[in-house]
Amino acid sequence: MSSKYSPCPCTSGKLYSKCCGPFHSGIELPPTALDLMRSRFAAFALGLTDYLVKTTHKDNPERKAEAADTEGSWKKDLESIASQARFDSLKILEFVDGDSRSEVTFRAFITKGEEDLSFTERSLFTREDGVWLYKEGSILN
Ligand SMILES: [Zn+2]
Repeated sequence: MSSKYSPCPCTSGKLYSKCCGPFHSGIELPPTALDLMRSRFAAFALGLTDYLVKTTHKDNPERKAEAADTEGSWKKDLESIASQARFDSLKILEFVDGDSRSEVTFRAFITKGEEDLSFTERSLFTREDGVWLYKEGSILN
């Protein structure tokens, strides 16, 4: 699945090794919030929850909720979503770039068995010390 000769799970049409692979392995930083967003979708598809944690801002509401929760439910949620759902494809609807703040609106096509879990989200990203992070998202439907 994550072979360097495989198509990238973010469904860019590029090879994984020329797309999100270098971000997942830490060789490169995503240059834009859009690249980060794509790499997070691919990380869900591949079950790379450590990457999802690493790229989530510490002020993200779901992450903050975990601080008071000794069970670590936020990371467990990420793990269960990543392992149970199938991340079929990603469609970028809008990308508003900025130096330190950026917004990406996308539709994620996700299935879990027969169930359609697809959703549209507007995500907010912020850049701190040159590193883009996922701050928060609002579901649009
Ligand atoms: Zn990719």
